[in-house]
Amino acid sequence: MKKININTATPAKPQSKVLIIYTGGTFGMAHDTNGVLVPFDFSLILEHLPSLRNLSLDLTVISFDNPIDSSNIQPEHWQQIAKLIFENYESQDGFVVLHGTDTMAFTASALSFMLQGLAKPVIITGAQLPISETRSDARENLITALEIAAAKKEGLAIIPEVCIYFDDELLRGNRSKKVESMHFDAFESENYPALAKAGVMIDYNEKVIGQPGTELKLLSKLDPSITILKLFPGITMATVNAVTSIPNLKAIVLETFGSGNAPTSPEFLKLLSGAIKKEVIILNISQCPGGMVVQGKYETSRDLQEIGVLSGGDMTTEAAVTKLMVLLGEYGSAKTKRLIGISLAGEITN
Ligand code: ASP
Repeated sequence: MKKININTATPAKPQSKVLIIYTGGTFGMAHDTNGVLVPFDFSLILEHLPSLRNLSLDLTVISFDNPIDSSNIQPEHWQQIAKLIFENYESQDGFVVLHGTDTMAFTASALSFMLQGLAKPVIITGAQLPISETRSDARENLITALEIAAAKKEGLAIIPEVCIYFDDELLRGNRSKKVESMHFDAFESENYPALAKAGVMIDYNEKVIGQPGTELKLLSKLDPSITILKLFPGITMATVNAVTSIPNLKAIVLETFGSGNAPTSPEFLKLLSGAIKKEVIILNISQCPGGMVVQGKYETSRDLQEIGVLSGGDMTTEAAVTKLMVLLGEYGSAKTKRLIGISLAGEITN
């Protein structure tokens, strides 16, 4: 990891201390002397973004040795990021994680479960166009993410949560989804209102911001022995059988239709109930980005309820996958079953 310090306030006293963790993604690309896009040297940030000086912040930037496209993100990277935040928690007022957009919602969700009891802002952002491009969204995204990470009211952080800031909106990280790969409005949070909107001012919606924790606890064990089974009309029983028979599998996120509905065929139900008997957790998450799973509302979900499929309520797939990894890693299957439907970081409406 490379570490640099940039005091944008000199010679005045900085208003806040913010740690930026630069992981890679489109954000930090610049053309090299041959015109090829390569990760840029973060120590040159003030050249790309002179208006940073107006923020009056004491910035520390820690960069991954080899910045990555976020499609290569692994649980080990979440462990590294969470550990950096945990170790620097006391000395900093807030954190900004620069990350590719492709898996940003997974990282935001994972960090929200790994950093229990958070009372300071962890703002994840990135860009659809590299910072070196004239029309890039990187500059605005970074400046506003830093402002939010530094923002306090009566001495306390305004945002005590892991969030995604992108295209003028601050979203709860574990409620967000990437929904757009070309336009700037890349993220949505269908089931939870934005925590802030940035216009002429940053307008915080205080009623929906989570409560600060009292003591930060790092949950850093992750168990990736899980999978996603996305249903579609025509899915074969050979496919369902192959998935439910994966050796050492601990959980399946079952992506169902509408409000949690699935085929009622006895073969299908038998395969699922066989897995549940082998202690595999099956969690029902809807394929719809908005709304929630209500098992038993239709006949097509009543059977799932009866065989022991658990309802994932209004959680996103990204939240469900990462919550399972964290809970299974920390507590094992029995406790995961008890905790999976309970809100740990505002990810589900209880
Ligand atoms: N593929 C890139 C990434 O996720 C896209 C981006 O940064 O927006 O790293």
